[in-house]
Amino acid sequence: MSKAMRRRRRRSSRLLPLLSLIVLGIGIGAAATAWTELKTIDRSGRITGPVVLAQSDKLRELSEQTLRQSAARAERTEAAENAERENQEVRPEREPDTALSIAGGAPEPDNAPRLRIVLDPGHGGEGLKDEQELGAIYRDTYEKYLTLEIAEAMREELSQYGNVEVFMTRDTDRALTLKERAAYAESVGGDLLVSLHLNASLEHNFYGSEVFVSAFEYFHARGAGVGESILKQLTDYGFVSKGVKTRLGSKGADYYGIIRECKSLGIPALIVEHGYMDEDSDWARMNTQEALENLGRRDAAGLAAYFGLEKGSVLSKLPAIEEEIPAVPVRPDTTPPEEVWYKKERQTDGRFLITLHGVERESRVMYYDYSTDGGETYGGLQLWGTGETVRFTMNLTGEEQLVFRVYNNYELRTETSG
Ligand SMILES: [Zn+2]
Repeated sequence: MSKAMRRRRRRSSRLLPLLSLIVLGIGIGAAATAWTELKTIDRSGRITGPVVLAQSDKLRELSEQTLRQSAARAERTEAAENAERENQEVRPEREPDTALSIAGGAPEPDNAPRLRIVLDPGHGGEGLKDEQELGAIYRDTYEKYLTLEIAEAMREELSQYGNVEVFMTRDTDRALTLKERAAYAESVGGDLLVSLHLNASLEHNFYGSEVFVSAFEYFHARGAGVGESILKQLTDYGFVSKGVKTRLGSKGADYYGIIRECKSLGIPALIVEHGYMDEDSDWARMNTQEALENLGRRDAAGLAAYFGLEKGSVLSKLPAIEEEIPAVPVRPDTTPPEEVWYKKERQTDGRFLITLHGVERESRVMYYDYSTDGGETYGGLQLWGTGETVRFTMNLTGEEQLVFRVYNNYELRTETSG
């Protein structure tokens, strides 16, 4: 979960409490028969089997509270870090070509280039003083455990390739500040830091993988290159891609601390948000030990493909990478989709053909959802596809108060009117 959850007006939903009751009912039913088989976490905090799918009300409350607190904290942290940054001298950034620097004393032929990759399992720690240490809280587990599983699988997989050395900011459940993580990456001569996370959203409706990178120069180019390659692997695994994105703070620097701290030390970093813990279809791709290991292997494969690493062989030279260094900061999209309207036409079979339109010039249209009761309740998010329109048929009486919402991949949405 990124620490900045979007705080959005929550629509009152009359259906939701009823739905929760049903889900809880099913959950209790399942738990009564299968609870003992559904081992979730062992004493060391590792996932040891399928994770319980039902979430208790208490946990849900806790999660939502965490999300709200995280958002508030993110604001405060950003302000504090901005203030702190202003008092700091800017450290010199390393040249891009150090990415292929040669590690001293490596027992490999011909001083083969060695990439130093730092894996950063997101969150960690007991969460007593700072709940952020736990990460997202869903499905009776914590994000911090899952990110560690993914990181370990990624390390294991990467270590089968030549020309790479893998480091981890943590391999136990311990707390680390973002600054400490970045400092560790620098201390081991890291060429790239990959921060591993799982997502969650306030309305529990988003799904898909996304990668956050620096908005600036080489840091953007390298992060985005690796990020796209990892996203390709994750979409092959079944996730929808929300793309490689940037986010800027109020002072115009990279918003996310790990990206900013690494950049200040000359190290490109990316945050991989594999999928949403609070969304069922995404969760199904991360709800077992095996699934998490799959994610880690996918991440490794994406990274290895980008750098041209080969499994089981050490290359004397790595292939050159073509990267386009952006001359100006790559800004996030901060405006919702435009020209949003719909048209409904009754067909001969009595059903309605809906044409929904939306334009996104800065990013891309990603999802839509709709309400038949004037915006009181909405169904799940549907994928938009490509182009400026989607068409589908609906069974309607014609009396419904239809409202459509069109979202871009930055989760900003525009609602149809009238
Ligand atoms: Zn996270």
